Amino acid sequence: MSKPKVGFFDFASCEGCQIELTNYGDAAFVELLNHIDIVEFREAMTETAEHLTIACIEGSFTREADRGRLENIRERSDIVIAYGACASTAGVNALKNHQKDFRKDVYGEDRNMPHLYSNDRAVPISEVIKVDYNVYGCPMDKYEFLDIVSHLVHGKEPVIPNHPVCIECKHNETICRYFEGDHCLGPVARAGCRAPCPADGIPCEACRGFVDNPNEEAMEKVLIKKGKLPEARAKHKSRIFTAFCRSDA
Ligand code: SF4
Ligand code: SF4
Ligand code: SF4
Repeated sequence: MSKPKVGFFDFASCEGCQIELTNYGDAAFVELLNHIDIVEFREAMTETAEHLTIACIEGSFTREADRGRLENIRERSDIVIAYGACASTAGVNALKNHQKDFRKDVYGEDRNMPHLYSNDRAVPISEVIKVDYNVYGCPMDKYEFLDIVSHLVHGKEPVIPNHPVCIECKHNETICRYFEGDHCLGPVARAGCRAPCPADGIPCEACRGFVDNPNEEAMEKVLIKKGKLPEARAKHKSRIFTAFCRSDA
């Protein structure tokens, strides 16, 4: 039986998630390589493939010129995975959606050069083509990526977490940041990362985005009352990684 053909593609991103991928040194990833054929990966090879079993896409869509390339990847692929915050939620790239003069601020006098042109908004890949699975996080969690791809390679349905980071914190028996006089977005942040930030003594910034239907109003109150954040800061606290879905970021 032939192995699933897997390709990796990048759009607007810092390529940090690809670095996470190439950082794999553990036996589980080496074992996965025995079960897939990597047939397209710009960072590592020049070959391209007519058909892909799984296309893994990093980065947001923010240049109209990229639309054709994205559609072509979808047409050639049975399954599309958007990996990393940039691809799955538009991540930090979506902060520009709320900055009127971002071209001027970033590129100054060079802002009208054709190769620097981008759309006014950065959006998740799912806004342009059908995405079958998202691997959240900035950077994505490499073990979650491995788990999702392993499930797909074995014909099983992966489970994408939709519970808050607090649950993983409790599993780790980590002392809550709020008990340390700190703040944290864990109650509304999507889990799946195993809560490394609170375990390291820093607040969760919801880099994986929010759970479905988060109670943002209650979160804001907790940030003010228990986290001691000024009202204005509490209001915008979560915008770093959720700017795409916010109208007031
Ligand atoms: S999700 Fe974060 S680490 Fe990954 S490409 Fe985007 S900015 Fe870089
Ligand atoms: S530290 Fe953050 S994620 Fe952990 S339990 Fe407290 S609020 Fe939840
Ligand atoms: S704890 Fe929060 S900020 Fe840290 S990796 Fe998980 S979701 Fe991201």
